[in-house]
Amino acid sequence: KFITIEGIDGAGKTTQVEKLCEYIKNKGKRVIRAREPGGTALGEQLRKVLLDPDSNPVSTAEALIYAASRAQILEKLVIPAIKEGFFVVCDRFVDSSLAYQGFARGLGFNRILQLNKWVLNGYWPDITFVLDVDPEIALKRLTRGKDRLERESLEFHIKVREGFLKLKDEFPERIRIIDASKSKDEIFKDIVMELERSGIF
Ligand code: C5P
Ligand code: MG
Repeated sequence: KFITIEGIDGAGKTTQVEKLCEYIKNKGKRVIRAREPGGTALGEQLRKVLLDPDSNPVSTAEALIYAASRAQILEKLVIPAIKEGFFVVCDRFVDSSLAYQGFARGLGFNRILQLNKWVLNGYWPDITFVLDVDPEIALKRLTRGKDRLERESLEFHIKVREGFLKLKDEFPERIRIIDASKSKDEIFKDIVMELERSGIF
């Protein structure tokens, strides 16, 4: 099963990915953790390019680099793992591109969707959790602030959030919106409940 965790910066994705991997392992199931951009050797190199302060985030080239990183994770990690019966939990995936590049950066939702349909080639996540939280709360949670993109304006993050929420209408079967203003443990409980209800566990 392929599970992705999405949301704006500071929503708590990485924490929930860690908790979920631990939980799956404790259930005696095999799990692989990935993150995007990154996740493979080439993916981590692409991540460096993408997070370079001098790169231009509003560009087709950048959207293609995100897509390249995704293609690499799919080919090297996700598809082989799924074939072996592993769970895969990924920190960001296709929906980040739809919300960030497609919606907030204005490259066009349908254009980014078309590109990613080709990249995914049918390997869509089984279930996707969008950790939804007010950007003002989320940005306060970020202590790092080192990434270029995390220094974007509040307006930008409001737009990204809007993009994620719109995805629920586009993919109602797959996307679950989780209230991420709650505590880490409460958010995690909601995720597990939803996984059980959806028959993923
Ligand atoms: O969450 P993570 O630290 O992996 O994200 C790295 C940065 O890349 C974030 O600041 C996020 O805003 C940005 N990003 C993006 N478009 C994507 C994925 C991530 O702008 N498709
Ligand atoms: Mg993170």
